[in-house]
Amino acid sequence: MDAVVAVTAEKPVSAVGVKVGSLSGAVPEALEGAWPIAVAGTPLAGAKLELELIPAAIWCPGCQAEQPIDEFYALTCPVCGTPSGQLVRGREFAVAWAET
Ligand SMILES: [Zn+2]
Repeated sequence: MDAVVAVTAEKPVSAVGVKVGSLSGAVPEALEGAWPIAVAGTPLAGAKLELELIPAAIWCPGCQAEQPIDEFYALTCPVCGTPSGQLVRGREFAVAWAET
């Protein structure tokens, strides 16, 4: 959470929004559990953590559409089975906003 602290250290923050893609490798439950410990003693202490979960999706050239994927399908369209390397969403892990 060092990045969060660096971005927001100038004034007290009441809530922080973080975008978490389903393929980012971040585990929402773990983030929530670690949050109070990570922010203790920083300007974020006491701030609420709001996670915005973003389901992964690929652009499927077969369907000409975005298709949501899960880990089971990997980078293959769940509708028509066309493999696609075009991940359009899912790897996000970033601070979206901070409320003071
Ligand atoms: Zn498809």
